Amino acid sequence: MRIDELPTPCYVVDEALIEKNLKILRGVMDRTGCRILLAQKAFSMYALYPLIGQYLSGTAASGLYEARLGREEMGKENHIFSPAYRDDEIDEIVSLCDHIIFNSFSQLEKFKDKVLKAGKSVGLRINPEFSTQEGHAIYDPCAPGSRLGVTLSNFKPELLDGVSGLHFHTLCEQDSDALISTVEVVEEKFGPWLSQMEWLNFGGGHHITRPGYHIEALEDCIKRIQDKYGVTVYLEPGEAIALNAGFLITTVLDTLKNGIDIAILDTSAACHMPDVLEMPYRPPLLNSGEPHEKKYTYRLGGPTCLAGDIIGDYSFDEPLKVGDRLTFGDMAIYSMVKNNTFNGMPLPSIALRDKNGDCKIVRSFGYDDFKTRLS
Ligand SMILES: *Cc1c(COP(=O)(O)O)cnc(C)c1O
Repeated sequence: MRIDELPTPCYVVDEALIEKNLKILRGVMDRTGCRILLAQKAFSMYALYPLIGQYLSGTAASGLYEARLGREEMGKENHIFSPAYRDDEIDEIVSLCDHIIFNSFSQLEKFKDKVLKAGKSVGLRINPEFSTQEGHAIYDPCAPGSRLGVTLSNFKPELLDGVSGLHFHTLCEQDSDALISTVEVVEEKFGPWLSQMEWLNFGGGHHITRPGYHIEALEDCIKRIQDKYGVTVYLEPGEAIALNAGFLITTVLDTLKNGIDIAILDTSAACHMPDVLEMPYRPPLLNSGEPHEKKYTYRLGGPTCLAGDIIGDYSFDEPLKVGDRLTFGDMAIYSMVKNNTFNGMPLPSIALRDKNGDCKIVRSFGYDDFKTRLS
């Protein structure tokens, strides 16, 4: 069907736009010999895993369920990091994953032998304590008191036996300059142990597919580290894989006035785009302008009870009317993976747009999806 025939609310992910990102990432792999994984927590639309698997080395998971999904739906290299693993899950995790990355020496000591016995690779997450971003403290694993990664003062070189890789993840939507300065600090602090490793994982947060990202500087950094220490570099971006490759289509249910013009949509910031409230940010909306840039400005909000369920203020050439369809951009990442049914909100359908522009719904949801998560 055509995109304007899809029922709303509906996420639409565009295969050609995903493939465009994948080609950029594949270029980095080909020119450097590094390996790039899909961080599934950002984008787990497994209908596209066969396509993603044609370009990338595999999947990165945050826990058992993502690890299973990566194994079942892509079946390539499968890596996992979790701040702590459960006794009742570790055996299955070890059977599913190739790299198991620990967050502390106590977790490492507890589970390392199981991993080695299974012939899998043991990794340790380090914390270089080097913040490269202002503003987003909840996205900064280097903030004071962070629980993520072993700091130099907690580092125990005598316990590195059997560890074949180090992992850091400290960036969020950043360019290669932030990576380069982070790598310098990692070398200063952890340099003495890098040559004894087989791999070094630079985590995610690399906005490689954003227009203007300095890819050459990234590649120089990867090559330098690989040559200097004899390691394979891994990257595990989430955002970069599906950046600007998806949409959320919604319909105007009502318009009202309270000093300003307001439109109620059939999608909710709180349920369907929680990062809009959490990050927070104003998602792009096709054919709209900044407030008051065009003639008619509206505050767009969802149908939930939450007073703050507001997507943002946008302006339009024509007044909005009931039944109008609006299309939010950059809605593939950190959207459907974070959905919830607060207020009994229906979950948006998930559709795929192929290279010819044809759309097909790959999943739709109903009342049971709300009910079966409760009792
Ligand atoms: C979030 C996360 C990623 C992916 O980050 P993006 O910002 O989506 O690229 C990769 N690795 C780890 C450990 C993460 O926590």
